[in-house]
Amino acid sequence: MLKNIIVAIFLIIAFTTKSYSAEAIGFYSKGKVKNSVSVDSYEGHFEKLFRSRGQIYSTDYLLDFIAKSSLEIKKLYPDVEALQIGDMSARKGGKIKRHQSHQNGLDIDIVYLRVNKSGQDLANPEWAEDFVSGRNVSKNLDVSRNWNLFKMLVKSGKVGRIFVDWSTKREFCKLHGDTQDPLEFQTLRLMSAAKYHRTHFHLRLLCKDSYSRCRKQSPPSNSTRCSELLK
Ligand SMILES: [Zn+2]
Repeated sequence: MLKNIIVAIFLIIAFTTKSYSAEAIGFYSKGKVKNSVSVDSYEGHFEKLFRSRGQIYSTDYLLDFIAKSSLEIKKLYPDVEALQIGDMSARKGGKIKRHQSHQNGLDIDIVYLRVNKSGQDLANPEWAEDFVSGRNVSKNLDVSRNWNLFKMLVKSGKVGRIFVDWSTKREFCKLHGDTQDPLEFQTLRLMSAAKYHRTHFHLRLLCKDSYSRCRKQSPPSNSTRCSELLK
């Protein structure tokens, strides 16, 4: 009898919690990935840039999230271009060229959504477009689509940071800085203005609870920090 109950409980847990095979180990800037998966094992409304660099791996936890989010944004905007993915991680994680982080399979670079809905040529070995013009975002950065994409990502509760250019964060601060909406507040809070994000944003997931060897990053202050940017 007890045995049957234990088996039943086990089955319920097995079917309700999705299990992932990969594991993020260590920190974003000093870590590795165990049993990483390739971007090619997932389908969705996305495409991979810079294939020749070989950074096509990550945790299945991150890739599953990206694949689902790409379909969700397409549901909201049926004519949206495929999410264009830049560097992820190396097969076993660890240090890769051009990046401090991207080491434990929880970081991914993605091109901002465009007004002209036309992604860059997949054969281009570099980012094709700068989305900053002076102190502002360029005309081709789709402000509302990116905002809704970011909110969608943050709503999952899985996001640790979204690194963007100063101009992007300022634009969203101008539009939503005095928001009373908890999701909008949290989206601005997790958006971190950082160098080298004029061409793409960088999504970072929090350590998943089951990743016992993943080192957590301390959360940002409980503020949008918009007032500093809007000075
Ligand atoms: Zn990055």
